Amino acid sequence: MKNLKYIIIFFIFSNLIFSQGVKTFFKSPEGKFFISSDLHIHTVFSDGLVWPTVRVDEAIRDSIDLISLTEHIEYQSHIVDIPHPNRNRSFQIASGYVQKQPLAVVHGTEITKGMPPGHYNAIFVNDVNKFFDLDKKPKEFMDAIKEANNQDAFVFWNHPHWEAQRSDGIARLDPIHKEIIKKKYLHGIEIVNMFTFSEEAMQIALENNLTMIGTSDVHVLIDWDFKNERESYHRPLTFIVAENRTIKATSDALFQGKTFIWFHDLIIGKEENLYDVASENLSVISEGYNSGGMFSAEKLLKVKLINHSVAPIQLKYLGEFTFHSDFNFIDLAPKSEKEVYIKTKNILTTLDLPFEILNYVIAPKTNLKINKKINIE
Ligand SMILES: [Zn+2]
Ligand SMILES: [Zn+2]
Repeated sequence: MKNLKYIIIFFIFSNLIFSQGVKTFFKSPEGKFFISSDLHIHTVFSDGLVWPTVRVDEAIRDSIDLISLTEHIEYQSHIVDIPHPNRNRSFQIASGYVQKQPLAVVHGTEITKGMPPGHYNAIFVNDVNKFFDLDKKPKEFMDAIKEANNQDAFVFWNHPHWEAQRSDGIARLDPIHKEIIKKKYLHGIEIVNMFTFSEEAMQIALENNLTMIGTSDVHVLIDWDFKNERESYHRPLTFIVAENRTIKATSDALFQGKTFIWFHDLIIGKEENLYDVASENLSVISEGYNSGGMFSAEKLLKVKLINHSVAPIQLKYLGEFTFHSDFNFIDLAPKSEKEVYIKTKNILTTLDLPFEILNYVIAPKTNLKINKKINIE
């Protein structure tokens, strides 16, 4: 009976539609929703320095849709002052506080072992107390990973390139990692953590079909770590490409690898996910020949480029023509537009504009390419 109650509560929770933060970061295609998330956050309930409600306020201020407070199971640096035998407290405090706010808090934790295996976040857990043995000791690694999977958690490997655990900063797989991948106990991997981006971790994600994750892993106040003199500075965010704004759809999308990451000015993710971002957020519109603009001439084609997103779009034009007042590199600032004049030599009715987007990363040392076809009136 007790179990049934939990199942019903979980069913209601997972089908709850959560609202969007006030800000649209990236336009999404019809029928898809880009859920902004930070799935790696600490509070005083492990080794963080703030109370869980502060994390909620920070996330709402940053217009984030979904967060998880992922306290270390094995490392509780404030345990003398904040003894808490119930390891679900951080989540309970945050989720109790968040009600009726435009933010979803999902239950998570960080399994914290030396390397190998390293650190792992388990998201969408229902009881962190079950990660302890009867003698109250944290479970051994394999048992902890199995417990996470028993609770249907989404499990990802944290900071596989962390210099404290990999002295050369290179993410690589040890036999234990290959084993949990093979057994399907591991579903994702951080390729961005705090201030770092690992191309090697990205390669591991691509080769092993792991979901790419980017997180703040914040311990102090978000502002202390992620605000500086640049106004556009922001914490790393993972955008989850969900079919609707429910926990169930968000979880499904995570398991299916449907994410992209916003880190500094970079947009990072699998090609199919980044293609959606680029095609929705870069508009290329013909304004015709002899347009009456700054360089009006019979065979100069005026084209307007629009960036709808909060990140820059750094274009490298790959086609055969040249521009009248630009080079083949065009840097579109966030939420901006720019007019360019293309010397097409002849009067055309359609034109393909192939671009490489230099800040959109689809694999190590590889950028997204996109063709924008325009019709000329
Ligand atoms: Zn960690
Ligand atoms: Zn952590």
